Amino acid sequence: MNGDRYHEIRRLARGLVISAQLPVAVEDIVRAQGIELVFDPFADAHLSGLASRRNGNRVIAVNCANSYSRQRFTIAHELGHLFLHDRQDIFVDGDVVVGRREESRTRSPEEREADLFASELLMPEALIIRDLRFADEQPLQSAIATLAARYRVSELAMSIRLRDYVDLLTQPKRRGEAE
Ligand SMILES: [Zn+2]
Repeated sequence: MNGDRYHEIRRLARGLVISAQLPVAVEDIVRAQGIELVFDPFADAHLSGLASRRNGNRVIAVNCANSYSRQRFTIAHELGHLFLHDRQDIFVDGDVVVGRREESRTRSPEEREADLFASELLMPEALIIRDLRFADEQPLQSAIATLAARYRVSELAMSIRLRDYVDLLTQPKRRGEAE
């Protein structure tokens, strides 16, 4: 994924966020796009979700046996496929490992793009940056837990998202004041 594509995906995802309220109302966003959302306890426990586009009908199905924060990420990921990937009409996702580093190299470009889309949709940049201003008095791990609860995402998803802002987290808050 080149830099232009990266920013384009983020911009697309950010443009769908309807309000600054948290957690981001991902189900409302999907339905506002005219996409049917189906919650189903899949027989295959390793299946987390799927998206399909047929005869003008777009459907996202999510395994409701998973935790709610995981369902939210799956919904956002599937929405990413429907927005970004025209070459396929059906997408089936197994245990979505949210960009875990060792995995991300082996995931296909489409999967990484859908993860990026989901990450930006559920944890929009402007809101994350705002919240980090208040979070930086806490140890990193508790900041991650606090923010994960606030955005209704897994702590893993939040910790990956915050890698993009590691500079904000590690900068002394009042640079220069102690000198
Ligand atoms: Zn996928």
